[in-house]
Amino acid sequence: MNYPAALDLEKSFLSHAPGYWASQGVTSADWNSHVWQLKNRITTLRQLEEHLVLTEDERNGVILSGTKLAMAITPHFFNLIDRDNPECPIRKQVIPRVEETWTSPYEMADPCGEDSHMPVPGLVHRYPDRVLFLVTDRCASYCRYCTRSRVVSGAGEQELETDFEAAFQYLEKHTEIRDVLLSGGDPLLFSDSKLEKILSRLRDIPHLEFLRIGSRVPIFLPQRITPQLCAMLQKYHPLFMSVHVNHPRELTLEVKEALERLANHGIPLGNQSVLLRGVNDNLDTMKTLVHKLLMCRVRPYYLYQLDLIQGSSHLEVPVEEGIALIEGLRGHTTGYAVPQYVIDAPGGGGKVPINPDYVLQRTGDRTLIRNFEGKTFEYPEPSAVSGPVLDLAE
Ligand SMILES: *Cc1c(COP(=O)(O)O)cnc(C)c1O
Ligand code: SF4
Repeated sequence: MNYPAALDLEKSFLSHAPGYWASQGVTSADWNSHVWQLKNRITTLRQLEEHLVLTEDERNGVILSGTKLAMAITPHFFNLIDRDNPECPIRKQVIPRVEETWTSPYEMADPCGEDSHMPVPGLVHRYPDRVLFLVTDRCASYCRYCTRSRVVSGAGEQELETDFEAAFQYLEKHTEIRDVLLSGGDPLLFSDSKLEKILSRLRDIPHLEFLRIGSRVPIFLPQRITPQLCAMLQKYHPLFMSVHVNHPRELTLEVKEALERLANHGIPLGNQSVLLRGVNDNLDTMKTLVHKLLMCRVRPYYLYQLDLIQGSSHLEVPVEEGIALIEGLRGHTTGYAVPQYVIDAPGGGGKVPINPDYVLQRTGDRTLIRNFEGKTFEYPEPSAVSGPVLDLAE
């Protein structure tokens, strides 16, 4: 293996393809095919141990956690793992650990209360004017902390049984809905034609103004972002896409090119990160991540506090540290680079913005604020400013 130093990997856009797999006889034509990538995902303990020496906790994690959320890792994403470092931030996202079998009384199977907000199976209608449409339970790889691990991957007891026809009829009837977010699972695992059927059916509903797709495929499987897919998506504008990157190392040359292809087809891109212990819970990593995202033409959108998903306590970061990260970004770097930190309220309250306190005091006639450097300023309320500045009647 000929890996560049970890710091280079994190700060620059380097190709990882096919790296280690070339020594296993994989051709670049195979490597660049999303079909090959999906077919050759690492899904069993045996395959994993062919490539990597697992720690005891990981080994037990793979054996014990499979009944809840399946393991699957594309060779592309697996290639980013530092094989010599059990604390590798890529490894922690996709390789199960025994801690996944630990549960605390606060944790829930459905932490955001989605199931209770489903008027139709697969359609979550929590906010007045927009819906979350869960179109599939499959992903290119599985994130160990997935908020929908109760249904995603098909390994758990609960199944996602999306009723497409009932969902379309619900959307047709509910004229207050103007925004549909396709998610899952990962909608970009559908074939172009299956995805197009859904998009064109949605576009036939006149009151739907805005469509978006939530997908981690550009990161897990950049080979899937073909010119054909982009050309199809472009017919359904305005269409936005939210991707999911947690660590700067995930932004390789191949991923950057996939994101640029989407952007070149007029798709505005946002990123949703999850704050994870040992992955992105320090300011340097977070700053590198948001800067690299802007270079890929992706606007950091949300930074999520980890949902209270069962078996995720080892990845949890205290809210105080999340607020400190935002404070370390705001004012110190490009405003476009600063995501909104949110907690998805446990039990189903929706996303709540969490911010550092820049308002120190508010009285009837003034607001006392501080800036990113800690300097305080006073803003007088309009009512406190006396008289017109210029008396034009004169
Ligand atoms: C996140 C989410 C949305 C979209 O929220 P935005 O703040 O508009 O991005 C819509 N519905 C549900 C249920 C969600 O969880
Ligand atoms: S890609 Fe999204 S839906 Fe799929 S496992 Fe990861 S977080 Fe869950």
